[in-house]
Amino acid sequence: MKIYEFTEQFPDETSCKMHFKAVREQEGIICKGCGSTNHYWLQSKWQWQCTNCRFRTTLRSGTVMHSAKLSFYKWYLCMAFMSSTKKGVSALEMQRQLGHKRYRTIWVLMHKIRSGMGKRDDRYTLEGMIELDEGYFEKTTSIHTPLKRGRGSQAKTNVAVMAESTALEDLETGAQSSQFRYAKMKVLASHKSSEINDVATQNISRTATLITDKSTSYEEFSKLFETHLSFKSDKETTRTTLKWVHVNISNAKRNLLGVYHMMAGKYLQNYLNEFCYRLNRRYFGENLFNRIVVATVANN
Ligand SMILES: [Zn+2]
Repeated sequence: MKIYEFTEQFPDETSCKMHFKAVREQEGIICKGCGSTNHYWLQSKWQWQCTNCRFRTTLRSGTVMHSAKLSFYKWYLCMAFMSSTKKGVSALEMQRQLGHKRYRTIWVLMHKIRSGMGKRDDRYTLEGMIELDEGYFEKTTSIHTPLKRGRGSQAKTNVAVMAESTALEDLETGAQSSQFRYAKMKVLASHKSSEINDVATQNISRTATLITDKSTSYEEFSKLFETHLSFKSDKETTRTTLKWVHVNISNAKRNLLGVYHMMAGKYLQNYLNEFCYRLNRRYFGENLFNRIVVATVANN
């Protein structure tokens, strides 16, 4: 959404709250007391009341903003900025744009939105033909230590990167190629093969065809998935068979370094959530803003 459109559609706090109410009702409100989905709206209290047990649900409760004090207006403006740029916005830039006093508040807000994006993408599993490889992302231990560019002694975080693609064949030449569809990136806490097995089975359909290199970490994939194809890791494989997973790894690294300049290891997953969320919705155009609002309505 462009900022001038935002100011037209959302001139004040009430317009943001009304929009959020509508999005939540569309997604469905689940009563924390009894699990019922039937509610009526108490306008004077800005709360829903369960028709079954009378338990009340506030606009924010059960969403990523449940304990936040920031106004809906700033929260919405932040999502509008996030959706208006192709590459993302740093918290410092966001703080400046929002004219907010405290950096930390904006930083937390953006991470909450990113965490909502991750939860939303977790609802989907990759299907069909999946390339899988691991990427090594540099990390810093403090959010105040900027990342150094190039080779350094910094610790690296291991990330499982998965890319769903479809095979294409040129009808005239018969040349094989593939088209990229969706990606997932998951920080791995260890190098154990049990962990990569868990991440793969949580994110990829069992009926998928997995394409990896010959690393021993993937030995059990043939038992876990319908088809597992492994190829020798070399330049040719990187360019062809595992093309999309490598394109995504290098784009993610460039994006994270370029926009955020720093990423503490602990928060890397959130930055990757935002990167994949945008990537998977790259054709959404103007609808991206609405989808980000939906992502902040958790219920998950
Ligand atoms: Zn209830």
